[in-house]
Amino acid sequence: MTSQPESSPLEVAIVGCGIAGLTAAIALRQHPYINVKIYEKATELKEIGASIALGPNGLRTLERLGLHNAISDEVAFRGPSNLPMIYRHWKTNEVIGVDRHEDVNQYLHRTARYHRAHLHQALLENVPRGIIHLGKQLVSVDVDSRDGVTLKFQDGTVVTADILLGADGLRSGVRSSFVPDFQLKWSGWTAFRAVFPTSLVESIPGLPADSTHWWGLSTNFFASRLGKNTFTVVGGLQSDPSNPNPHIANAEWDQDASLQLFKDTYENWNPVVKALVDATPSPLRFYPNLSCEGPLPTWVFGDRATLIGDAAHAHGGAHATGGSLAIDDAYAFYLSLLTVFPLNAIVKPNREGIGKALRLYEEVRKPHVEKLLNRVLEANAAKVERIRSGKLETDEELGERAARGSNTIWLHEHDVVKAFEATLSRRNEILVQGEAEVYAKL
Ligand SMILES: Cc1cc2nc3c(=O)[nH]c(=O)nc-3n(C[C@H](O)[C@H](O)[C@H](O)COP(=O)(O)OP(=O)(O)OC[C@H]3O[C@@H](n4cnc5c(N)ncnc54)[C@H](O)[C@@H]3O)c2cc1C
Repeated sequence: MTSQPESSPLEVAIVGCGIAGLTAAIALRQHPYINVKIYEKATELKEIGASIALGPNGLRTLERLGLHNAISDEVAFRGPSNLPMIYRHWKTNEVIGVDRHEDVNQYLHRTARYHRAHLHQALLENVPRGIIHLGKQLVSVDVDSRDGVTLKFQDGTVVTADILLGADGLRSGVRSSFVPDFQLKWSGWTAFRAVFPTSLVESIPGLPADSTHWWGLSTNFFASRLGKNTFTVVGGLQSDPSNPNPHIANAEWDQDASLQLFKDTYENWNPVVKALVDATPSPLRFYPNLSCEGPLPTWVFGDRATLIGDAAHAHGGAHATGGSLAIDDAYAFYLSLLTVFPLNAIVKPNREGIGKALRLYEEVRKPHVEKLLNRVLEANAAKVERIRSGKLETDEELGERAARGSNTIWLHEHDVVKAFEATLSRRNEILVQGEAEVYAKL
């Protein structure tokens, strides 16, 4: 790539048409001189996934992008109590803790729950179908070529772009191209998940109106209404990954799970949970909790490629925040790119400029998601240690844990724009300080 100014549009190739890829495409398409193409391995965009939550962080970002259709009550559910989560005791069904919003003044910024397919569809409505290329499974990437970055797909096709955005999720092909020895790790926790019409459960006596997490001594159970009159249940089995429960030892992502095993898991729980379990229809699916073994050393590859969403920081879904993190990554990437390619610019940045923008994006997002990843890895290790030691949590400890709540305001109410601005001012301060030191020496 030459460093001469060029006036052709900036070509951005996004691999992965999930929540991250679509949000990035919507943001980038606001720039008149950016051409976006999305490459997705699936051969059709069908309704897949179970429930997904967005916190104030992701919801605010979707609103900034003008995506009202993706945050309204037409598509999402918000509980009547304005509490993002209510914790109940597994046996007594008593409320033992709550999470609260802290700085959320607008209704549409309150935690919202969706069937993933409905959120995905709402984002898709904002992207022209012609820029999405299906049946394109990325197999390799080359960033050394003079023409930018070259992507090779399993069907033999090859494309080039100025920038590659890896938005291809947990098992990212983009990440594997740059970090071939990267490993995903199973925490020992495997969730059962189902989504079905609310009509199947609404007559259950005592069914909470709000999203509820029942906490048990070694497992838990989550149930919530979702948008469009759907309902979700999420259960889980925890075991020592080196000595797993045989029922989940080889469970694969999205594999059919046994309704009988689900019933057996919750057979001694309170009547509301038992009734929800009894009413759950097929398909019930397994979702093993897979995460990075640790943070990636860098998210910037060859000054032309980076990662967003689960591809960058798979953390196993803890705190139901993967969707919002992906949305905020996409927006931080867009804001960073604007610093080298403002909306009124027509001469696209060269490789050096692109590299600067990618490093700014990394500086804004990586410390934030690493804080989460490190906490999750620590918590997972503690759970496994407890199983190995054979010492179950006592009822008293459980109550204390629930009373503390999830303690995740820093995560769910994180404002990506403020974080972006803070990063820029920090950089300016360093620059000004550096200049002052130079002047002082004169
Ligand atoms: C089918 C599916 C179901 C899910 N269900 C849930 C759920 O029920 N609840 C929940 O909380 N989270 C679910 N997730 C994960 C959730 O979507 C993410 O944690 C979060 O939204 C971050 O999204 P993402 O865009 O980074 O990754 P993803 O949503 O995983 O999207 C990645 C996209 O990249 C595509 N892709 C992967 N590899 C390649 C490749 N080599 N070449 C081209 N394309 C590729 C995938 O097909 C997918 O469309 C699901 C993800 C998927 C893919």
